[in-house]
Amino acid sequence: MEPINEEFARAEIIRITQIVTAQGLVRSNDGNISVRLDEDRFLMTPSGVYKMTMEADDLIVVDWEGNVIKGRPGLKPTSETQMHLEAYRQRADIRAVLHAHPIYATSLTIAGLPFPMDIIPEAAIGLGSVPVAEYATPGSRELADSIQGPIRQSKNIILSHHGTITAGNTLEEALIALERIEHTAHSYFVSRSFGEIVPLSEEELGKLQIIGRKVRGEV
Ligand SMILES: [Zn+2]
Repeated sequence: MEPINEEFARAEIIRITQIVTAQGLVRSNDGNISVRLDEDRFLMTPSGVYKMTMEADDLIVVDWEGNVIKGRPGLKPTSETQMHLEAYRQRADIRAVLHAHPIYATSLTIAGLPFPMDIIPEAAIGLGSVPVAEYATPGSRELADSIQGPIRQSKNIILSHHGTITAGNTLEEALIALERIEHTAHSYFVSRSFGEIVPLSEEELGKLQIIGRKVRGEV
């Protein structure tokens, strides 16, 4: 595994955090971001720090158990550290994990609805599938356990009544997936307020899935 430069990763987490916060995909000190630096080290956002004012030095390096290897005194890694580590345990193909609280995607699960994969071509192509993990208490071991099956199935999942996890080779990839999920859920909400949903045909979805597997590098 090629190590990722720590200074670059710190700057990248700050950059992506600013974008995610400005777009309202997280609020106040919600959400958390990590980057896998190498085989055994992960860079995590700290717990309880307001995202818009978070600085590169606030980020914390942890090991596979979540023990702090490097961090400023008084700061602890995110309470969702175990959830991030579980994502890396389940998928050797990801280097970045973004957990956010997008309103429309989360609200789908509050209404008991699955993610609508059959309404927008870009979602079918770019995301493949977006499974929903069963609800578990934020910050708990149960939450980390709840993502095991879904994250194996897809890099991009929704946590019931809570938010999303999007993952990728880079943070930008995770950000693009997050934006795509929220845009699709938002479109679904607006379409339903106009009237009945007319989904894409099975035939068209089949075509989009073939294109998607190529685009996502799965074939
Ligand atoms: Zn959360």
